[in-house]
Amino acid sequence: MRTRFAPSPTGPLHLGHAFSALIAADLARAARGTFLLRIEDIDQSRARPEWEAQIYDDLHWLGLHWPQPVLRQSDRMPAYRAALSELWALGLLYRCTCTRRDITDALSAPQEGAAAHGPDGPVYPGTCRPDTPPAGPCPDDAVLRLNMARALDRIGASTLRFDETGAAPGTIRTAFDRRALQDEVGDVVLARRGMGTSYHLSVVVDDAAQAITHVVRGQDLAEATAIHLVLQHLLDLPQPVYHHHRLIRDDAGKRLAKRDDARAIALFRAEGLDPAGIARLVGFTPSAP
Ligand code: GLU
Ligand code: ZN
Repeated sequence: MRTRFAPSPTGPLHLGHAFSALIAADLARAARGTFLLRIEDIDQSRARPEWEAQIYDDLHWLGLHWPQPVLRQSDRMPAYRAALSELWALGLLYRCTCTRRDITDALSAPQEGAAAHGPDGPVYPGTCRPDTPPAGPCPDDAVLRLNMARALDRIGASTLRFDETGAAPGTIRTAFDRRALQDEVGDVVLARRGMGTSYHLSVVVDDAAQAITHVVRGQDLAEATAIHLVLQHLLDLPQPVYHHHRLIRDDAGKRLAKRDDARAIALFRAEGLDPAGIARLVGFTPSAP
């Protein structure tokens, strides 16, 4: 059993992060497995060393420990590049030159009807999607989208199944179907300009590289899991179990702190709350030893 907590160093850790990290560490402890920390800093325009330092500090204060060295996504660009090249060679990617504006304009054209919203916003209308896979090498600094219809053809299954342990006690076999993936998720971006990768691609490549068996994260990312399953199939990577936990609502924190970042762990610390108090606040109870 290997779990991970994978925050982005773009702001303070909140109560929701504490909840996620506590669950991931507890699952690993109960199974005598390993809890890993991963720093998801692919967005170098927003990542800051001081937020990363604060993450280590808050997590240690919460009583969590993890093996060194910590994997930092900004060091992993060659691995993401390799995965993109593999998908490109399979004819599953294409370059998209649309601006955000182009996409909203295309979607508001009268013949389009109501635009569906997927995990990454409005479902891409397919403006740049070629009829046949593009030739040549995988472009470097380009926006690359996944041709979802082609990807699903290649996978060949009408449903993508996974094991969910966060929704109820025990394991629930859960599925996304092909229709939902095509109509509600669509041609997602796998490489962003100026980033060379995307959240979806990096997370899937790294969960496999770190041999993560149980992905613990909030229900807000449950829809993204559909995309991750597709990528695991295409890249022939092992599929972890998913544990999507309930979200910690704003009001839990606002009772204690009345500031902008009302849920930041650092604020509760400053106000004298101890780690057990944080656990109580988010409703976390450790599993039996
Ligand atoms: N880095 C993501 C975040 O900060 C979480 C990634 C994941 O757990 O899959 O929300
Ligand atoms: Zn486009």
